[in-house]
Amino acid sequence: MSPADLIRPEIQALRAYQVPNSAGLVKLDAMENPYSWPEALRDDWLAALRDVALNRYPDAQGHDLQTALREAMGIPDDMALLLGNGSDELIQMLALAVSRPGRTVLSLDPGFVMYRMVALFAGLDYIGVPLRADGFALDPDATLAAIEREQPALTFIAYPNNPTGNLFDAAAITHIIEASPGLVVVDEAYAPFTDRSLLPQVGDWPNLLVMRTVSKMGLAGLRLGYLAGPSEWLAEIDKVRLPYNINVLTQASAAFALRHRAVLDEQTAAIRAERARLFDALTGLQGVKPYPSEANFILVRTAPGRAGALYLGLLDRGVLIKKLDGTHRLLADCLRITVGTADENTLLLEALKSALDIT
Ligand SMILES: *Cc1c(COP(=O)(O)O)cnc(C)c1O
Repeated sequence: MSPADLIRPEIQALRAYQVPNSAGLVKLDAMENPYSWPEALRDDWLAALRDVALNRYPDAQGHDLQTALREAMGIPDDMALLLGNGSDELIQMLALAVSRPGRTVLSLDPGFVMYRMVALFAGLDYIGVPLRADGFALDPDATLAAIEREQPALTFIAYPNNPTGNLFDAAAITHIIEASPGLVVVDEAYAPFTDRSLLPQVGDWPNLLVMRTVSKMGLAGLRLGYLAGPSEWLAEIDKVRLPYNINVLTQASAAFALRHRAVLDEQTAAIRAERARLFDALTGLQGVKPYPSEANFILVRTAPGRAGALYLGLLDRGVLIKKLDGTHRLLADCLRITVGTADENTLLLEALKSALDIT
């Protein structure tokens, strides 16, 4: 039997998740925090890791880390918490727990690609309700109609949204939660870069879960996401979690980082300040239009047909960003730029000016 006979056709039709080589480039493609830690803090971290028992399986529930997260993030006391190897794994656990032929995952498009991918992996149908063409707002009528029609088991709402960077109307999200027959997962991956959150409201509706990650706040290498919500739901989702999904180094390192939260908060504050500077500078450039962002990246639209050339022009000048043109009809001519350090952003702006003149 060959792969063509055995592997599901929808899997054969996929391309594996592509990560471009970024060696030697200014890396502004993946919403990473660009800052490292002060030398003294790195020494303390290494000292904290010294006693981690690599020969033992990790704490299966990550108890100490859960306690640290609850405290640092203000998880309501009466809400349960579930940890994932990145929030990507939590999306997968949610999908696996509800999957059955004919069940549907619903989200808003253009949105985070893993909702669609994981639905496909788990054998669920995926419905992407289009955002509004002018500024990527949630279309409440279209979304509520799709929920009524499709009766989704899971609805994902990224708040702020990736790759558009905007926040959806909070009242519209409330209506979606109330109209949904299934779970509504509000994905707050970009919580460090906005003042808005639904985390204080978990528990207000029985079907609301709030998901976050430490990736965008500066710990992408650890792979740690968390899901907060009513325990009757999370206890069921927990059953599809592979044992020991959060490794010992991640548990120890994340707990350490949360004890030094002030350093991460300073970094995210710097990113927010740079976001404002970058947005203003991009606004002043002929040939690109930036969209306002509540995240650590800025979506820009180029003149028609120029996105590919600009992307390559930046690459030639040593700057890697993300080309979104071609991924969704509403993202025609769009590029996504992660906010870097002040120096990186200046390099990007210089490269962009130069590429805009030439291309
Ligand atoms: C980056 C991102 C994630 C993935 O987070 P990980 O914890 O790194 O897996 C989830 N949701 C959205 C909207 C994202 O942009």
